[in-house]
Amino acid sequence: MLGNATLNSDTASHSTAPADASFLPGPVLLLGAPGVGKGTQAQLLVSRYGIPQISTGDLLRANIARGTEIGLKAKEIISSGRLVDDALVNAMVLTRLQEPDTARGYILDGYPRTLDQAMFLDRTLAELSLPPALPVVAVNIIVAYEELLRRITGRRICPSCKSIYNIYTNAPRLDALCDLESAALIQRPDDTEEVFRERMKTFEQQTAPVIHHYRGLGRFEEVNGDQPVEAVLAAIESTLLKLRAAGR
Ligand code: AMP
Repeated sequence: MLGNATLNSDTASHSTAPADASFLPGPVLLLGAPGVGKGTQAQLLVSRYGIPQISTGDLLRANIARGTEIGLKAKEIISSGRLVDDALVNAMVLTRLQEPDTARGYILDGYPRTLDQAMFLDRTLAELSLPPALPVVAVNIIVAYEELLRRITGRRICPSCKSIYNIYTNAPRLDALCDLESAALIQRPDDTEEVFRERMKTFEQQTAPVIHHYRGLGRFEEVNGDQPVEAVLAAIESTLLKLRAAGR
């Protein structure tokens, strides 16, 4: 397996053994720039712990696909590499967090992305005292800029099963078709080089302070994302086990 963070049938099968059912993962934040592998790792953690992935990007794209009012507002913003309005994203997350499948924990993927969102999340969890009554653990995944560019521009996704490929490092067996579903793979409209560069600027300006915030709170770990998917997963899991075992 190459040092990218893609997920296909091969990589997915490595790490899907369910973890000890008595382990309570609690809220987990996956932080990091576009392309570090948050989505891939979130999918693997879902299989391991049976807790949901809450990806604000996926929620927004689902709204775009359904043509909802939120989708109409978000479409142009996403395709320009900027961030959707805090209030809109916060409201979406608030609703999602109150669904019963979050009771043992959840993985927030791509949220919070601004300091305002982080404050909103911290306040919401404190005020609503939603189960599980555990503080958030934040994991920041780090990958160098040029590698991110390669991952983002090479990323292709199966519209049916959501498997993630990369035309440079993890190509499908048949050109542009999903190995599992044979569906024609798609490229996200914001995965072009031009939009990637905008997304990175947005990340540096608006999301870097979020990372600083959670680093300051403790219960924070940095993980090298430029290693095989399984190694990144192992590093995230050991962080979780260490911090939760310490009662945090
Ligand atoms: P992602 O799938 O996480 O890479 O998100 C794709 C795009 O959706 C981002 O570039 C933003 O335009 C938008 N987006 C996703 N999550 C958020 C968020 N937490 N706050 C604002 N915009 C978001």
